[in-house]
Amino acid sequence: MPRTPMPEREGRLRALDFEEVNLGYTDQLAILEATRCLQCARPVCVDGCPVGVKINDFVAAVADGRFDEAGRIVATDNSLPAVCGRVCPQEIQCEGACVMGRRSSPIAIGHLERFVADRARGRGGEQAPATAPSGWSVAIVGSGPAGLACAADLSRLGHDVTVYEALHEAGGVLVYGIPEYRLPTAVVEAEVGRLEEMGVVFELNAPIGRAESIDDLLDRHDAVFIGIGAGLPRFLEVPGEHLVGVQSANEFLTRVNLMGANRSDAETPVLVGKRVAVIGGGNTALDAVRTALRAGADSATVYYRRTEDEMPARREEIRHAREEGVHFEFLLNPVGFGGSERVETMELVRMRQTEPGDDGRRSVEPIEGSEVAVPVDTVVVAVGNAPNPMLSGTPDLTMSRRGTIVTDEVGMTDKPGVFAGGDIVTGGATVILAMGAGRRAAQGIDAFLRSGALVEID
Ligand code: FAD
Ligand code: SF4
Repeated sequence: MPRTPMPEREGRLRALDFEEVNLGYTDQLAILEATRCLQCARPVCVDGCPVGVKINDFVAAVADGRFDEAGRIVATDNSLPAVCGRVCPQEIQCEGACVMGRRSSPIAIGHLERFVADRARGRGGEQAPATAPSGWSVAIVGSGPAGLACAADLSRLGHDVTVYEALHEAGGVLVYGIPEYRLPTAVVEAEVGRLEEMGVVFELNAPIGRAESIDDLLDRHDAVFIGIGAGLPRFLEVPGEHLVGVQSANEFLTRVNLMGANRSDAETPVLVGKRVAVIGGGNTALDAVRTALRAGADSATVYYRRTEDEMPARREEIRHAREEGVHFEFLLNPVGFGGSERVETMELVRMRQTEPGDDGRRSVEPIEGSEVAVPVDTVVVAVGNAPNPMLSGTPDLTMSRRGTIVTDEVGMTDKPGVFAGGDIVTGGATVILAMGAGRRAAQGIDAFLRSGALVEID
């Protein structure tokens, strides 16, 4: 049986608005897809999932129509299943390991996970069992997937949890980076709402490191978890990058996603010109280019210095972008921008692949004299992010040369009582890895609080 396609909105029509592209499986489609699963004796898909979701068990429950049970099985290992089902790079994780991939196409694990999570959300979700209050209080800095997952587990363990978030909305990249048409804000809001019901307090517009330091937080909390992500955009550092109309993907996406800057009545609208060029090949580049189309660009093109096969973006995003009318240009790298005040042209050099090195990987190098110039009105640079530097001056917090926070395997830093996880520790990674790090740190914090170490610190 072929893989059950995800119902989705028609490409050109959906590029006109921010409504979700994928519509979700119905009960019948979910059962149809789940019955394709071979129920392997050794389910290698579970090894492919960074948090070890018991995929074989939840898929078997879906196949039997036991949807609530399927939801419970997923929720044991994954506290953000409605998010992960939508945005995990399944092709290199769970689905990449699925043996059905060798015979035909892998089981649509992500689509099924989304199905059970959405169904549980629609029914109000599971009530967390009441836990006796521990009397300890923990501060979480940053409300991305690492912070949210850490907050959920600590609250379940009976601790008082306060989340400090710099922006005016909770969710981290899930709300300011990933657009609505891929991950509706309502999904993240439901998760934040669930945490609030459990007693987690959210302090928004609270950037730690400015008015308040980590040491200030340690004065009123017993432990701190830092999950501030890798939100500092990298630039190309080529001539003309200062011109009006050249901006980072972070700025572009945050302004559209959080401030509605694509609307003409916005206080500071983003000026999306007719011809938009997006530089990069990851999820961020794809989110920016598809957002540019929805914000009114006549043409939107991705320029990537390697080949399509090497693009780190999820395959589904690349396919969706093409269907919506996005153009792709490969083996081209910007070397400068021209214009008097606003950007008018982008200069690119053609790249070629080198012979494979000792590790078997090909690199790319510029072809001398191959420069071309293309007319552009807006350029969005999406070539990666560096760790957020706001807490780098915190005393006793060891940072790596890359600017990440150094921790042990449960997220404990060198500063007593302070833990960290997610992109601020690994550098830019994925939602599921950040979430897994938040959960491990919650266990580490709980063990730390109960160990008596706190008394020694006091
Ligand atoms: P973040 O999600 O970055 O959250 C950090 C939070 O901390 C933010 O809310 C920030 O405002 C807050 N903060 C920062 N400094 C402070 C401070 N000093 N005080 C208080 N709060 C602070 N991954 C996938 O798996 N699939 C995808 O499809 C995908 N698409 C992506 C698209 C984009 C545009 C981007 C940028 C990333 C994408 N990623 C994707 C990567 C993924 O979103 C990140 O790896 C993940 O969100 C990291 O989680 P985090 O909790 O560590 O940090
Ligand atoms: Fe796959 Fe991600 Fe779900 Fe794990 S959390 S089963 S990797 S979709």
